[in-house]
Amino acid sequence: METTAIDFKIQQVEKSRVEQLDPQNIVFGSLFTDHMLVADCINGEWQTPEILPYGDIAYNPALASLHYGQSIFEGMKAFRNVNDEVVMFRPEENYKRFNISAERMCMATVPEEIFMGGLQKLLELDGAWVPDGEDNSLYLRPFMFASDVYLGVRPSFNYRFMIIMSPAGKYYAEPPKVKIETEFIRAAEGGVGYAKCAGNYAASLYPAKLAQEQGYTQLLWTDAKTHTKFEESGTMNVFFVKDGKLITPKTSTTILKGITRDSLINIARDKGYEVVEQDVYVKDIVDGISSGSVTEVFGAGTAVVVSPFSAIGFEGKDYELPAITDKSISTVLKNGLNDIRKGKVADTHGWVYKV
Ligand SMILES: *Cc1c(COP(=O)(O)O)cnc(C)c1O
Repeated sequence: METTAIDFKIQQVEKSRVEQLDPQNIVFGSLFTDHMLVADCINGEWQTPEILPYGDIAYNPALASLHYGQSIFEGMKAFRNVNDEVVMFRPEENYKRFNISAERMCMATVPEEIFMGGLQKLLELDGAWVPDGEDNSLYLRPFMFASDVYLGVRPSFNYRFMIIMSPAGKYYAEPPKVKIETEFIRAAEGGVGYAKCAGNYAASLYPAKLAQEQGYTQLLWTDAKTHTKFEESGTMNVFFVKDGKLITPKTSTTILKGITRDSLINIARDKGYEVVEQDVYVKDIVDGISSGSVTEVFGAGTAVVVSPFSAIGFEGKDYELPAITDKSISTVLKNGLNDIRKGKVADTHGWVYKV
């Protein structure tokens, strides 16, 4: 990458904590790298971004984001490729989506030099934290919150943008059993479903907890109006394999535009699979599992890459899916994506971004 025009104030740690990282034994989201980025936007003016030793931040009890939820984030990953280089996967897409979320939540947008330059600087400093290993990566978490100290309801004048980084390993051990949700909703037309805002996650916890009490790992969300069409699964986009075709709901204001989703669609087309973006009806899928025409259902997102489901629960009945094999489309697509990220095959789409 070219050097960025913007200056960063950098305060380096005296001694790295990288020996705390055990690549064999990574617990997602629990260990953080040596440094973090902090940039404040004061009345519309971005201040010089700072890179500081990772640590606590102080906040005032009247911090606006704590009360009214102006808070957004991104989730992305850096990898160590086969040539021992640190790379990111399509980070410009996360940057664009971050500012789309910011606009929907009436927040300041972040300049590219701070978002992309900040990731670059952090990865230069903390590159040793990018773990080796097939399923390992460094999870990158840019986020921003309203930082006014004010209890009135209005968009904040001040925002804090931060980036923290945390080593990540494999997400789910077993293929999850998921429940089709027909009572609660994740997103409604005209709402904030397409934004990666903190509140969407808070709202999904209670229905997910109920599903877990019934023995499911995760939810399959349906549309808010009719509960007949699939939207997403948990915090992932969702794909179905029916008669050998890959099917996924079209993105809309109620479906988050996943970068994994888009990448898998491209890889599937490259490999000669037919891909259809269309309404996907619950009834068609449930019937298709029963008749054997639907052979795979899987979630797709940065955290999991691809997560094939073992069974789907609908109206109290579980519909078992065939076991995943090396020939399953989800396996082929997952390997296809991993091979590009790890530099094992040519990056024909220009997705890999070397740090
Ligand atoms: C982040 C997210 C996804 C996945 O997006 P990726 O860019 O593939 O990581 C899907 N759905 C929701 C609701 C999300 O928040």
